[in-house]
Amino acid sequence: MPPKTRRERKAEVAVSTTGGSTRATQSGPVSSSTVPAQQAPPVTLDYKKLNPKTTHYEFGGPIGAFLMITILPCVVILFAFGCDNIGYTPFHRLWAIASDLIAGRFEWEFLWSLVTSWKAVALLWYAGFVAQLATFSIAMPGDTVEGTRLRDGTRLSYKVNALSAVQTMTTMTLMSVRGQGLKLPLWVHANFAHIAVASVIFSFIVSIGVYVYSFFGKRLLSLGGNTGNHIYDFMIGHELNPRIGNFDLKFFTELRPGLVGWVVLNICMALKQYVDLGRVTNSMILVVLFQAWYVFDALWNETSVLTTMDITSDGFGFMLAFGNFCWVPMMYCLQARYLADFPHDLNIWHVCAVIILQCVGYRIFRGANSQKNTFRNNPEDPSVKDLTYIQTKSGTRLITSGWWGMSRHINYFGDWLMALSWCLACGFDSIIPYFYSIYFLILLVHRQRRDDSKCKEKYGEDWDKYCEIVKYRIVPGVY
Ligand code: NDP
Repeated sequence: MPPKTRRERKAEVAVSTTGGSTRATQSGPVSSSTVPAQQAPPVTLDYKKLNPKTTHYEFGGPIGAFLMITILPCVVILFAFGCDNIGYTPFHRLWAIASDLIAGRFEWEFLWSLVTSWKAVALLWYAGFVAQLATFSIAMPGDTVEGTRLRDGTRLSYKVNALSAVQTMTTMTLMSVRGQGLKLPLWVHANFAHIAVASVIFSFIVSIGVYVYSFFGKRLLSLGGNTGNHIYDFMIGHELNPRIGNFDLKFFTELRPGLVGWVVLNICMALKQYVDLGRVTNSMILVVLFQAWYVFDALWNETSVLTTMDITSDGFGFMLAFGNFCWVPMMYCLQARYLADFPHDLNIWHVCAVIILQCVGYRIFRGANSQKNTFRNNPEDPSVKDLTYIQTKSGTRLITSGWWGMSRHINYFGDWLMALSWCLACGFDSIIPYFYSIYFLILLVHRQRRDDSKCKEKYGEDWDKYCEIVKYRIVPGVY
């Protein structure tokens, strides 16, 4: 059977509005391009009832939220300034500062000189990059798809055009390279730390903006972000879907600045290596290609983001804004940065190991996500019709064989294997490029627990039954 086109797959998912899939699963409550832009809620809606107070905390409550708001930006800045061609030693440098502070030797002028040496033009570059993405997202045509039904009975519509926006941006970038050569990518490499600071500032501006905005007018708030505690609500996200006209800030932020920014930074690092060496090392090629593949996969399946908990239930606040404007691009490009500063080639066995790990990881990740997606959209499809499942009282089915019979989040395992393969491409001279796989492991375990408790709440004893059949959470036979 010939592979289905994107349009065919979208038409297929249009029949299902039960959702239940994720960013990488292609499914989603998609409809045709005739969907009205945004259905206005009936005027009689009681927003007090629609926005009940949140009574439980996640992420350690207000203290955890405060720590996330303060520590995570510091981690980004630490890795930005603490890693350069002298060494990838952020923790050594932090320790040197801490011991100077303890011993009373710390020179405060040094800190001040760091602050005053920050190049504000980096903020201009960063804001220009985001503005370009936003402009193309608004200006380029795209299919209109519907999101899941909201508590007020409406469904928002979204313009899906990430790939065409990126294509246009790439063409314009290539034209600028023809005119100016590699000046800009080299500038980006040289000023990476300044850009990282700019992205932190930008994330705070956006987070504060949407938080303040959420108090004006009648707005649908996130069920988890309406505690009344400003620090917590600011971090987790107060308003569910802040929009400027039809431009949905959360949907735009979710995939574009973070993922596209990650690839852009990677390419700048590869070009820096090319200028230095006159060629690009095989390790850099592997990292840039595999990560670009991962991003392409996410953008290609853009509609699936509409059913993730990020879009359906989390509010838009610091967590998502900082995560996508700052953390993803600045921290995920660590391997390419490392290879630009410490270029090396891998031997053939090492190359094979990286490729095999990436392919195995991708096979699991895509296989599991697509299997769930196909099953949810068309259980009679020949590829899934023999799968066993539990019919839940809420109407949806939980698969108990195939990929989803191996563990409850086998897709996370595949995702993590890919992350590990990118780190392995950096060799064994420094542990710092492995930061990504360590952090990602923590994120996935935390996400699995969050998702399992959401499913337990949604499915009750059906979920217990499912957990009895599928015992492992992520890694079959291990965890
Ligand atoms: P999943 O793709 O694992 O989806 C979880 C949902 O699937 C559940 O809430 C449930 O939803 C449904 N489900 C669970 N078990 C079954 C089953 N047995 N049969 C059918 N449906 C089931 O979640 P995520 O959104 O967390 O992840 C999506 C992808 O994105 C993953 O591959 C992940 O690795 C990746 N990811 C990457 C990140 C990054 O930074 N690179 C960050 C986060 C995620 P329902 O209520 O519909 O039943």
